[in-house]
Amino acid sequence: MEYESVIGLEIHAQLSTKTKLFCGCDNDAFGAEPNTRVCPVCMGFPGVLPVLSDAALEKARLAGVALGATLREHSKFDRKNYFYPDLPSGYQISQYDEPFSEHGEVTFSVEGKHHTVRILRVHLENDAGKLTHTKDGTFLDFNRAGTPLVEIVTQPDIRSAQEAQLFAKEVQRILRHIGASDADMEKGMMRFDASVSLRPKGEKKLYPRTEIKNLNSFTSLQKAIAYEIKRQTKDWEAGNPQQSETTVGWVDDAEKTVLLRDKESAHDYRYFPEPDLPPLSVTQDMMETYKERVGELPLARRERYEKDYGMNAENALCLTDEPKLVAFFEAAIAEGADPKPASNLLLSVVLADAGWRGSSLTAQHLIDTCALLKAGKISSSGAKEIIATAMQTGDSAQDIMDQKGLEQVSDTGELEKWVDEVIAEFPDTIAEYKDGKEKALQFLIGQVMKRSRGSANPPMVMEMMKQKLA
Ligand code: ZN
Ligand code: MN
Repeated sequence: MEYESVIGLEIHAQLSTKTKLFCGCDNDAFGAEPNTRVCPVCMGFPGVLPVLSDAALEKARLAGVALGATLREHSKFDRKNYFYPDLPSGYQISQYDEPFSEHGEVTFSVEGKHHTVRILRVHLENDAGKLTHTKDGTFLDFNRAGTPLVEIVTQPDIRSAQEAQLFAKEVQRILRHIGASDADMEKGMMRFDASVSLRPKGEKKLYPRTEIKNLNSFTSLQKAIAYEIKRQTKDWEAGNPQQSETTVGWVDDAEKTVLLRDKESAHDYRYFPEPDLPPLSVTQDMMETYKERVGELPLARRERYEKDYGMNAENALCLTDEPKLVAFFEAAIAEGADPKPASNLLLSVVLADAGWRGSSLTAQHLIDTCALLKAGKISSSGAKEIIATAMQTGDSAQDIMDQKGLEQVSDTGELEKWVDEVIAEFPDTIAEYKDGKEKALQFLIGQVMKRSRGSANPPMVMEMMKQKLA
């Protein structure tokens, strides 16, 4: 019998706002001393009142729209009650039956073919604190408590571990594209829960699933699902498929899942409307504005770069994965730059420098360098040198060209002098060229370049040399 895997994901992504969801505490606590980014609100003291961050709501809505979802006209917050030491208030403020958005879809590419996964809902909620278990006891850090999260819930439309990973990566790109989340896996800004079940191929029915909790890397997402599919296949083949829903955890080192508990369901949480926060509403006009702000999605952009600018898939992916470089590239193209050298400079010079994000490079540097290149004033190696220098100093492209003497000599009189000298000096090579040896011409041009200390304009030298030897 053949079995089909039925996989759904829940993704929690941290919104990149300055403050937490319901208080003014700093939302960026990475590397901070434990319990230094806290206040009575995010520590769940009795009697405090939450105030919703506008920025978080804005970013969440953008995320919803970018994930193809509809913003619900009316939505509200609910209390999700459960007891856990990292949740001092005893409840999480989340959204239950009226999430701010629903019915989305994300299209991604699996080996060049489009796949679409439907999004059931996207809702907004606050994060809990962090527990660290050591041999001396358990430590609590509330810096993360109250951080704004979007929870993205998919339909069970994923069919393999590989698909799950590719889908999750596309979601990461979309969230970064709109600036909703940095979605940095290493900082725990994006975490996955995966629901996995099997069914005999051809059946439409859903069987009890296993939910794998808290996967925090693309690798563990892929490995945990693959493990779970294998485990469940064995159970099915033994005629003993699982009878009830369960929750498991993934142990990275052992590369296996372990049973945590029977799966909890909504009634376990005693949801009720959050009395301290007003309901939310959105108009059709606002929805349109969000759509405009989302603009072209990363997948569409990649495919456009491949089609219109002849980029290979790998380069298109590298470039479009960096929203800042996309902005530079688009600005240069809009100013008439040739796409090929413009993208080459970004891919081979800028991205080659690990510290490029903190560099002084601006869109104007790329625009000006591409213009100098197009006008024949600099060579392609000169262009690379200008960009590399601009990253360090921030000086203008023109200034760097002047300082470093990178301007190419296009003055025919001066070029002719060097060409004549070379022709006089290498009669044997010229004979070889006249015998049809193309390589000989490259050597002669190289000699001219040497004489000019790299400043001669190579296409002009080639043209002049060919004419003189014809
Ligand atoms: Zn706080
Ligand atoms: Mn959640």
